[in-house]
This record gives sequence, structure tokens and C-alpha cells, in this order.
Amino acid sequence: MKRISPDQINISLSQDISLGILIVDEDLKITYSGEIVNAMFGYDEKELVGESLYKLIPEKEESPEREDNDLEPQGLCGVRKDGEKFPVEIGLNPIQIEGREAFILAIADISQRRKQQEEILRLNSRLGQLVNERTVELRKIITDLRKEIERRRKAESKAKQALQKERELSELKTKFLSLVSHEFKTPLSVILSSATLAGKYGKVGKTEPLERHLEIIKLKVKNLNGILNDFLSIERLESGESSYKPENFPLSRVINNVIYDANMSSKDGQIINYPENINDLTVHYDEKILELTLTNLINNAIKYSPENTEIDISVIEEKDKLHISVKDRGMGIPEKDQKFIFNPYYRAENAELVQGTGIGLNIVKGHLENLDGQIYFESKEGEGSTFTISIPYSPIEE
Ligand code: ADP
Repeated sequence: MKRISPDQINISLSQDISLGILIVDEDLKITYSGEIVNAMFGYDEKELVGESLYKLIPEKEESPEREDNDLEPQGLCGVRKDGEKFPVEIGLNPIQIEGREAFILAIADISQRRKQQEEILRLNSRLGQLVNERTVELRKIITDLRKEIERRRKAESKAKQALQKERELSELKTKFLSLVSHEFKTPLSVILSSATLAGKYGKVGKTEPLERHLEIIKLKVKNLNGILNDFLSIERLESGESSYKPENFPLSRVINNVIYDANMSSKDGQIINYPENINDLTVHYDEKILELTLTNLINNAIKYSPENTEIDISVIEEKDKLHISVKDRGMGIPEKDQKFIFNPYYRAENAELVQGTGIGLNIVKGHLENLDGQIYFESKEGEGSTFTISIPYSPIEE
């Protein structure tokens, strides 16, 4: 027999629940059914008297259409006369009627409340669903926003870079123009004065000073030509249009040419020391590039060191490389400038009073690297510099 537990008896009654009264004897036979109970279960007056309580509340019936939820435990189920089942709550109190045990039952139809609970559940689950949908939407909006921020950040940094590049270019242009005018002005005024003097000496037939001035003119024109070539060279290097012609030639030829020219422009008392043991060295390289490179290094050594100092050229032969060094005892390169020295138009702080364009080393490095060579240096401010180039080499059997 199904026991009615105390939990089920303690009902909380809300205003919209009508409570029906039923009295049963100790065998659970109905001895009285109130109007509300009759209406609740669909019986006429007195029709229930004598019937078992189980007719209204069957032992095995569970509360109908009840979805599992935590709101309350599975309840009791009433059955109407037409068989329809509905959830009920029952309050039970033992009484004595004419000396016999009986029970008075208060029965409530809780269909309405159950419906409300189910509606709450349905609404909760719909709310959960909406929250989920909204969360997914929000996540997507956040992802899109993040992407947009990233895109804008990239665009901004690109624009900044472009602006920076433009600024650098315009700075370079200004630097370049001032360099060109500066570099050309001095030799041009020397050429002009030498030409005037040469004309005067020519008229009076003084050949020795005339030739000296012609020599100066030649040298200055050569210098200007060198600078122009440098500018053209940097242009070609940057656009990748340089073309090379590697061939076999004696190293001594290049060294002699370079030193011969260098002696013409060296300062008073500067001595350029020839390398030893190069007479038999044949090199396979672009001769013009090697000449340009060594000219550049020796001219720098002359420019950046004082009168009465020595400049050493040395050659070291290795299995597959040839190292050629130019060592001076000049002003050297300050530590802080050293890492920029191969940058185009870069000039060290201590070189500002010496004429120069800051592009020679950049060109030399570009050409050497295009031809599998390298350039590096060691320098100490106030003591001197040694620039060394390494080019591919293999001894050629005569
Ligand atoms: P330029 O001599 O026309 O300025 P380079 O590209 O040949 O240009 O040299 C770049 C810079 O490197 C020079 O301005 C100078 O500051 C420094 N430099 C190059 N060679 C020497 C050297 N032998 N001694 C001291 N400084 C040097």
C-alpha cells in the first residue's frame, strides 16, 4: 500500500488553490466527500461515499506529464471520474468519529501550480538558450572587433613606416645635395685657379709651374669623376643593375696603379708602403671593382690621417681567399659610429671637417658582396684604422 509521507501532507496553500475535504474511515473508505472534492474529481453528491480512497488516488499512479525538475519531489496523482489524471496535494489528519479511527483529508488540485512551474522551467530554458545565442553573437562581435583593431594597427604602422621612409629619403636628398655642392665646389675652384695660373705661366713660357698646374687640374678632374662615378655606382647597386667582368689579372698591376694615383694626392710626408711578395699573384676577379675598392680605402687612409704618417698595404694569401689590408695611423673611427660606417651617406662625427660624401664604403661593400667578397675593419679613435677586404682566390698554376 502506498504510504502518504509527511512531506506530501505538509502542503502550502496559495490563494488560487481550492481545498476539498474528504473523510475516510480506517479502511480508507470514503465516508464523506465535500462539494469541492466532488467537483474536483467529477462526481455527483454522495456518489463517492462508500468508495475506496484509491479510486480517487490510485496506489501506483504517478503525477501526470510531470517533467523532471528540482522544484519539488514527484507528487501524488488524482484520477477524475472520466479517467483524466491530475496532480494533487493532500493534507491528512487522524480524527475519531464515534469512537472509531478516521482520517480527514484536505485535497488540493495543483495542476495550475504545476503548469506555472513548467512554464517557469520553459522560460528558464528559453532564457538560457537566448543567453547562449547572445554569448555566441557577442563572441563573434568581439573577434571581429579584435580583427578590426589588428587591421587598423597594422595599417597605422605601415603608414608610419612609409612616413618614416619618406622622411629619411628627404633627409638623404638634402644631405646628398649639400654634399654634392660641397664636394664639387672646392675642386672646381682649385681647377679654376690652376687654369688661370696655367694660362699666365703659359704666356710667359714658364713650363715647370705650368705643368704642375695642369697636373693639379687633371687630378681634380679625376677626383670629380670619381665622385660622379660613386653616385652613379650607388644608383646602379641599389637598382641591381651592376654588371661585372671577372677575369685573370696580376694583382701587382692593380696595386701599382692605385698606389701611383694615391701618391699624387697624398699629404706631405705620407708614405705608402707596398705589399711584399705579390709579384707572382694572379687573381680572378673584376679588376675594375678591385681597383675602385683599393682606391677608396687608400684615399680614405690618406684623407683621415695626418702628414708624415705611414700607410701599409699588405696581402695575405690563403687556400681559397686573398686578404688585402690598408692600415693607417690616422684619426680612427669613434666606437659609436663604427656600426653605421657602411651605411650610405654616413660619416663619423670626427670626419666632419674632412671632405667626403659617406658613400664610398657603402658602394665598395655592395660590389664586394655581389662578387662573394667581404669587407671589415678595426679602428681605434686617435690611433688609426685597418680596412681589410677578402676576395675568393685560388692559386693559378703558371
Ligand atoms: P667619405 O670618406 O667620402 O666620407 P666613405 O664611405 O669612404 O665616405 O667613409 C665613410 C666614413 O667612414 C667617413 O666619413 C669616415 O667617417 C669613416 N672612415 C672611412 N675610412 C676611414 C679611415 N681610414 N679612418 C677614419 N675614418 C674613416
